[in-house]
This record gives sequence, C-alpha cells and structure tokens, in this order.
Amino acid sequence: MPLTGIEIFKLLPKTNCGECGVPTCLAFAMNLAGGKAELSRCPYVSEEAKAKLQEASAPPIRPVTIGTGDRKLKIGGETVMFRHEKRFENPTGVALLIKDTMADAEVDARLEKFKQLQYERVGLTLRPELIAVKDESGDAGKFEALVNKVKQNTDASIILIGDKADILAAGVKASADRKPLVYAATKDNLDSVASLAKENACPLGVKASSLEELAELTTKLNAAGVNDLVIDSGARTVRQAFEDQVIIRNAALTKKFRPLGFPTIVFPAEMTDNPMKEAVIASMLVAKYGGIVVLSDFQGEALFPLLVERMNIFTDPQRPLATTQGIYEIGGPSENSPVLITTNFSLTYFIVSGEIETSKVPSWLLVMDTEGLSVMTSWAAGKFVADAIGPFVKKSGIEDKVKRHKLILPGYAAAESGGLEEELPGWEIQIGPREGSHIPAYLKAWKP
Ligand code: SF4
Repeated sequence: MPLTGIEIFKLLPKTNCGECGVPTCLAFAMNLAGGKAELSRCPYVSEEAKAKLQEASAPPIRPVTIGTGDRKLKIGGETVMFRHEKRFENPTGVALLIKDTMADAEVDARLEKFKQLQYERVGLTLRPELIAVKDESGDAGKFEALVNKVKQNTDASIILIGDKADILAAGVKASADRKPLVYAATKDNLDSVASLAKENACPLGVKASSLEELAELTTKLNAAGVNDLVIDSGARTVRQAFEDQVIIRNAALTKKFRPLGFPTIVFPAEMTDNPMKEAVIASMLVAKYGGIVVLSDFQGEALFPLLVERMNIFTDPQRPLATTQGIYEIGGPSENSPVLITTNFSLTYFIVSGEIETSKVPSWLLVMDTEGLSVMTSWAAGKFVADAIGPFVKKSGIEDKVKRHKLILPGYAAAESGGLEEELPGWEIQIGPREGSHIPAYLKAWKP
C-alpha cells in the first residue's frame, strides 16, 4: 500500500526550505502521496529515507509487460480492491490457445480468427492481445515451428506454455524479440526455466499447487533476481480460482504481502468443456482479478461481450470517455445541410452520429467539449448553456460552411434556445428531438 502524506512527511527533513517548489515539507509530502510530485525534487532526503520511500511507493502489485511495440500488454500495477475506490489500471489480457498438436488447418483458422475478431466501440478498438502457444507434442522442433508461425502471421504478444525447459527454450529462440511470457516455472523446473527467462529478459509465469507454494516460489525467484512474474495458484475449479484471485489481491494490497504482489494468469479453458460456461467463467475472472485469461477458442458471440465488459471495468469511473471537440461531417454534407449540436460524451456522440447516419441525411454535427458530460448532465451543470454554446459555435467555423444559419439544439437543452438566439444573432435555433432514436424521422422531415 502506498504511504499516506503524513507517513511520508515523517521521512522528510522538515526544514521547510521550499526548494522543492512548495513552501513546506508537509505540502510536498501531500503532493508525493497524491502522485503530483517526484521525490527527486527534494535534494535533502537522506539515502535511508529515499530507500524507504521508493520501496513504499512501488505498486503493491508489480506491473509486468509482455511483448514489444504497439501490441505489448501491460498487466498488474493495481492499487485497489474495488474499482469505485479509484480505478483499475491495466486491463486483463485475453489469450487464444493454440496447441502444437493441432492440425495446420485448425492453426490457420485460429490465427485468422485472432486477426479478424476485433470491434469498434465508442471510438476504441476492442481486440484480444495474446496467443498462448502450448507444447503438447513434446517435440521442440514442432513447438518452435508453431511459435514461428504465430509470430510471422500475427502481431500478438505470445505466451509460451510448457513444463520442459528445453522445449520452452525452443519457443524463446523463435520469439525472444517479442518478449514472450515463459510459462511456467514450477517447483520441479524452477532453476532451469527461471534461467531461461532471466537470460532472455522475458517475463516468467510461475505455477504452484497452492498459494503457500506459490509464495515460496516467488520468494526464491525474487532472491535470484527474477522479478517480472505472472502467477498461477494452480486452481482449476471455478470456486477455488475465484477464491485464490481474491486472496491474492487482498494479500498484496491489504496485507502488503510482496510474495503474492504480481499479476495473475487464469485458465477458464481448463475449468469446463462447455464454451458458454467458459465465457461466463472468463467474465467473472476479468472482474475479479485475472491479469490474463486464456480461452480454449474464440467465438465472436462470447468474445465481444467479454471485451466490452473489460472495457467497462477498466474505464476510469472518474473520467468519462470523451470525443474531440469540433465539426464532424456525416454523409458528405453541403452548404444546405442541417447543423446539429451535441456534447462530447463519447456515448452521446456515437448515438447521435449513428442516428444521423441511419437517417441518410448528410449533416454537420458540432461536438462541444463539455468535459465528457452528456447533454442533460452538462446542461444541469451549466456547461451546455447559451453563453457557452454561442462562443463555441462562432469559433467553430461552421458559419462559413453553411448558407442558412439554422442550429438544431438537443431537445433536453431546449430552455437555452432564447438565450442562444441572443448569443448568435442571425441564427435560427431549432429544437431537435430529446431522444437519439427520433433523430432520423426529424431529419427526414427537416427543410433547409
Ligand atoms: S526541498 Fe525538501 S526539505 Fe525543502 S521544503 Fe521541500 S521537502 Fe522540505
């Protein structure tokens, strides 16, 4: 757990010299606790205090990165048990399993699925990140060839699954530049698999048969200088897996128990043979508290809701998703096309723009920055009102794009029409529908 401002203050020199940019050590301590200052701004912190503060300011669950470049996946780094306390930091990675005993056609179909199954939602691309390549054949050459194929045909981050160091080494040889997750070190192969991960600077998966054994293994690995770990308690029943996830998170955050302070990997694929049950288990483990979920296969009807759930859970509850302010052209509008205005809450924007597209009436859509609030909320908060809308419309440049100056205001902000006519002389303010679903009928009936 991070230190409080008062705990940090006790470790500072307490001379109030002001060299850190704030007048007192207490103010600096509060800024440090809030993540608004760097410890290096104070030149007078003792080495001993520095070590304590750095140790204490490390996240209770170590952030671990798998892969490289744009597709790399960062997991862990979590600081709260419940999203409403602050936010969850790094979304659960979703992995597709491919085994080296699968026929070529099956492998190709899975690689194609991995590439095809991605979705646009509120301006974001939702997609899985990982392919878990599993050794079942016991043939290092076969495993290496499959890893190579995955690497050549996708930009996925890779998990190498096996229990023999020589076979995992063949996978690392083919994919070391992708920094794969090497899974798994166990009590039986600890030294050899740990050395493989360490020599190639790859993150390491650790699998045990209980939480106690897991803590022992991570302690040994940390002592050997292997720190980027992803942990697996070995649970393969739904109940045990759920309990272990909660215990691990709680131990790391509340008890500050470092040996379990790592992101986890879970295998719904090994908890049931029923694909729909597997999807339900995966959704539970995305919420609580899987770092990576490995699925036996991808089906669009199960993957899409899982990715949407993940997006919702890992969205910062204190910061609404927002769209960029500006003029949006929908359907190639002309100087005679209608002009609508709305706010920059992403969901509002996507509903309104979607309904305009549905109407097939080419239109101009003005999106005004209301700090990501919806029409009703921003109107009630005084952000989507006449004296803010007026200056925005004038500055937007829309006046040069249309002949007739008619502005369609959302029905929920109808009370602003009078004030807006005063703010925008020469404009006719029209009241549009309250509900997005009524926009197509409204636009079809609209006359320039
Ligand atoms: S520079 Fe250090 S000693 Fe000086 S006020 Fe800031 S925290 Fe205190």
